[in-house]
Amino acid sequence: MITTRLYHQDAYLTEFSAHIVGRSDDGRRLYLDRTAFYPASGGQPHDTGTISGVPVVDVIDEEKRIAHITASPVEGAEVACRVDWARRFDHMQQHSGQHLLSAVLLELCGAETVSFHLGSEVSTIDAAVGALRPEDVLAAEQRVNQCVTENRPITVTYEPASEAKDLRRPADREGVLRIVSIEGLDRSPCGGTHVRAAGEIGPVVLRKLEKVRGNVRLEFLCGMRAVRRARSDFEALSRIARIFSSTLDDAPTLVAAQHDALQSADKARRRVAGELARYQGRERYASTEPGRDGVRRAVVRQPSGAVDEELRALAQGFTAQPKAFLVVVIEAPPAVVMAVSADVGLHAGDTLKALLARHNGRGGGNARMAQGTVPSREALAALVAEIG
Ligand SMILES: [Zn+2]
Repeated sequence: MITTRLYHQDAYLTEFSAHIVGRSDDGRRLYLDRTAFYPASGGQPHDTGTISGVPVVDVIDEEKRIAHITASPVEGAEVACRVDWARRFDHMQQHSGQHLLSAVLLELCGAETVSFHLGSEVSTIDAAVGALRPEDVLAAEQRVNQCVTENRPITVTYEPASEAKDLRRPADREGVLRIVSIEGLDRSPCGGTHVRAAGEIGPVVLRKLEKVRGNVRLEFLCGMRAVRRARSDFEALSRIARIFSSTLDDAPTLVAAQHDALQSADKARRRVAGELARYQGRERYASTEPGRDGVRRAVVRQPSGAVDEELRALAQGFTAQPKAFLVVVIEAPPAVVMAVSADVGLHAGDTLKALLARHNGRGGGNARMAQGTVPSREALAALVAEIG
């Protein structure tokens, strides 16, 4: 038995009664003779609501029939049904807004919409165009909202595919088409639910642009979603402006200036830290007694960290002096640095590489400095013991 789709006649119908004409053995998959529950299709998510007071968790389009998945089994033959209106109306706003936006993008930029996704937070369309300039986006946003304020009627007609003219996209099927029209702007075959006039879409804001598979993916929000987003944007920007004791409009300039100042301060700090580390390397050299061969050998131990610029600067400070041999040992994660002065007669890279190979480590370097990692503290201890 074909399910009568009440939402095609009246997208505003939220309460209806129906007969259960089929159900799964567990009583959670129901088929009704007629339904106002919209199944997920055409980019628009399914409705929720209740059947005999039991929550509807999914609605599936099976072409001829519509399956209603309920949270628990539903008894009886005749049932009272209620569609969650807040969710449905939000979907109607986003979906109708999509028709409007797609028509405007085609009109202003020649960009055809190739797909639509209505998400729980934001919606997107993929437009077949190489790029959209900021001024294109601004013009499209203004034109869309102008159509909203003109409150253009949105109507549904049924026309044979062979006779339907001026469609935004050619119909992909034969027979009678359900055509959704925005007065003076757009005619598109569509089986979804729409508001009856553009004013009900509410404000429309265009947001992020993204390149996806040669198209431009454009994020947009309609109705209360746009209002909620504007509110949270305002609050976020206000928090930033409070930090800088500025107006909202001045905040971006101040943030950019602070960012630049922070970057140059960080650069200066890193330079000073490097100088300090080199100095500490020289100090360490000065306080290290030379061995019988005249080489000063030192092992610097660090409980944790990474082999960074400062560590390398320390090693350079040490080995910039004659007859210098330095090993830096980092316990966690286990790592080792070997640095030598040119007159020691040892190739740091080759020496460390050979040691690492015996202790399942990896790494390497040049004649003066090398670094590597080993898989465990035990391997690290064994490697360091071998250096002597
Ligand atoms: Zn539609």
